[in-house]
Amino acid sequence: SKSKGRNQLSFYAENMQEAFLQQYEMTNRLKNALVSDEFHLVYQPVIDMKSAGLVGAEALLRWSYDSNDISPDIFIPIAEKSKTINEIGQWVLDNALKQLSVWHKIDNSMFMSINLSPIQLSDQSLIPFIKACLDKYKINPEKIKLELTETALLLDNEKNLSMIQSLKKLGCLIALDDFGTGYSSVTHLYSFPIDTVKIDKSLMPTFSKHPDTLKVTKGLVAMINSLNLDITVEGVETTYDLNFCQGLNINNIQGFYYDQPLEPDAFKDKYLIKSKF
Ligand code: C2E
Ligand code: CA
Ligand code: CA
Ligand code: CA
Repeated sequence: SKSKGRNQLSFYAENMQEAFLQQYEMTNRLKNALVSDEFHLVYQPVIDMKSAGLVGAEALLRWSYDSNDISPDIFIPIAEKSKTINEIGQWVLDNALKQLSVWHKIDNSMFMSINLSPIQLSDQSLIPFIKACLDKYKINPEKIKLELTETALLLDNEKNLSMIQSLKKLGCLIALDDFGTGYSSVTHLYSFPIDTVKIDKSLMPTFSKHPDTLKVTKGLVAMINSLNLDITVEGVETTYDLNFCQGLNINNIQGFYYDQPLEPDAFKDKYLIKSKF
């Protein structure tokens, strides 16, 4: 029964066997999710720091399974292992670009940020697929920002570099996501054709637990400024975070201070209709 299925989908497995079974089950469910239309996108506003106006949106994937919303932090890694991520990623690209083409009728200056898994960089159909979507929805590629984490830059460096160069040649913008966590390396900032660096939320005052974090954040921002890259700060939750950002030379801000990721209608009502006046 359905309720039994829900109970079996307990995400905090206590032992390996259980974890394996859950992964197996999730992989099968993920494969069906595309066919059964269980995915949808929500959109978080990206705000210009100086004008406080909307400049873009980040598309974030949601999976509603059996009336539960499953977090992408849980199902994306599983989709990556089974390579289902390539199909899911194409679904995301198609739907986010379709949405952007609709919103461009109200505000054609806004951009759409789309997350790409490092696995997708090995997919030979990625470039033709993006090109076909841009044509289908008549979208200026400069209004598409593809977000990659540093994992993508570390794996198979040469092949991924040439893939990222091809994405640049299409005219899309490239953002380096979650900077300041994991394997952050300064050389990534100039060996890859990056337009925007997204500073991870763990470097915001409200998130950070360590007293020296804010010194590090200031230093990182100054260094990225010196390379003339755009900076977006993520995880701006409080007035304190906002004030901290306003003391730095950054371009864009994202976070719960403004909004959580929104359903398309809510996003339009709040950020697109209003911005006309
Ligand atoms: P991300 O790309 O770093 O996305 C930002 C995450 O931070 C989102 O979580 C967003 O809801 C959350 N967030 C935004 N502002 C705040 C804030 O002020 N405070 C806090 N605590 N969180 C904030 P979400 O939607 O759960 O996504 C989690 C991750 O899943 C994303 O991290 C991204 O790595 C991945 N993801 C989501 N959608 C996609 C997708 O379409 N494709 C791929 N490959 N990955 C995706
Ligand atoms: Ca992102
Ligand atoms: Ca991020
Ligand atoms: Ca992240």
